Amino acid sequence: MNIAIIGAGASGLFLANLLEKLNINYTLFNKGKVGSKILASGNGRCNISNTHISGDKYHNNKLAISIINNNKNDLFKFFDEFKIYLKEDSEGRLYPISESSESILNILTKNIKNIVDLEITKIIKMNDYYKVNDYDDKFSHVVISTGSPSGMKNPKSLDLFKSLNINLNEFKPSLVGFKIKEKIKEISGVRCKAKVSLINDNKLIHEESGEIIFKDDGISGICVMNLSSYYNYLDNKNNTKIIIKLLDKEYDNYESVINPKLLKFINKNKLNYQKLEFNILNTYSLEFSQVSKGGVDIKLVNENLTLKNDNHIFITGEVLDVDGLCGGYNLSFAFMSAIEVYKEIKNEISNR
Ligand SMILES: Cc1cc2nc3c(=O)[nH]c(=O)nc-3n(C[C@H](O)[C@H](O)[C@H](O)COP(=O)(O)OP(=O)(O)OC[C@H]3O[C@@H](n4cnc5c(N)ncnc54)[C@H](O)[C@@H]3O)c2cc1C
Repeated sequence: MNIAIIGAGASGLFLANLLEKLNINYTLFNKGKVGSKILASGNGRCNISNTHISGDKYHNNKLAISIINNNKNDLFKFFDEFKIYLKEDSEGRLYPISESSESILNILTKNIKNIVDLEITKIIKMNDYYKVNDYDDKFSHVVISTGSPSGMKNPKSLDLFKSLNINLNEFKPSLVGFKIKEKIKEISGVRCKAKVSLINDNKLIHEESGEIIFKDDGISGICVMNLSSYYNYLDNKNNTKIIIKLLDKEYDNYESVINPKLLKFINKNKLNYQKLEFNILNTYSLEFSQVSKGGVDIKLVNENLTLKNDNHIFITGEVLDVDGLCGGYNLSFAFMSAIEVYKEIKNEISNR
């Protein structure tokens, strides 16, 4: 057995560590910096998982549900085995005790022996093995762990999917802020706590509370980013609004209650403190998003993450068309999908 893993991000690195345990030959191909999204995650603190993992935290979640059911317990078992010790915040988000993404990347890379800096654009099936690009080795299995274009200035080539005749579902930015129609430059930079609601054609789609951040031409913050993942699944995005409820009760004076810049803006525009309405033009682009909707359609893969038309090619992580909410759910999905592949490979060995 000789396995090509394409992509040394969260899922590729986790899988390589698990294959080390089985003593299996593998080569990890990665163009550019290894694990760059792990480093960027959680603002450098790495929100690695969440105590509330469940299928309802994911969109397009049929596959996520089976991956969670099969692998959630093992995820925490392997965190322990890799000596990744975690702490929990009040909302169940899990971080390394160091609060440093770098420490997670160090742990996941320290035992990896075989990383090749190469952008894979072609996977070729020969009789009973695979070649990637013109690389010399022959591989018995290929694992595609290439992630999504989210958060990247220069996304990698998607040509390898063409070489396998896979049409990807279009990548769309998720976990990202909204551009809005109203002019709000004067409150750019203001942060405050609020309840935010996504309204489409006068229907409530989703609501959450948390910190919001006003930008030059839009609104962001974790709770707003979560709304964006529901926005992606709307059939008709026209007439979609974000409604912000700043306060739970009324006051006789708001000077010490609301940020002065925001208060001035509200008064000038005669807005309602309990219901600030903004019309959504779009989300910000993929480059500014944390994850993507889109990628390999889940109809093309089995529950064990092999392609339906080729059971020696696996797909892991975010390149699958499954996207989770903010809170550690996306890294967890990437890791759990790697565990699924590890178990399949382990089974294959023991059945030989
Ligand atoms: C700014 C930011 C913050 C985030 N914060 C969090 C967080 O706190 N918690 C959370 O759960 N999730 C977070 N995420 C999302 C999370 O990082 C991703 O969902 C996760 O990293 C996906 O893992 P992956 O293995 O699928 O892909 P990635 O980690 O993206 O790895 C893919 C790797 O493959 C390489 N690659 C791609 N194509 C090729 C090719 N053709 N040839 C060779 N190499 C290739 C890439 O360069 C990359 O190194 C964040 C994302 C961003 C952008």
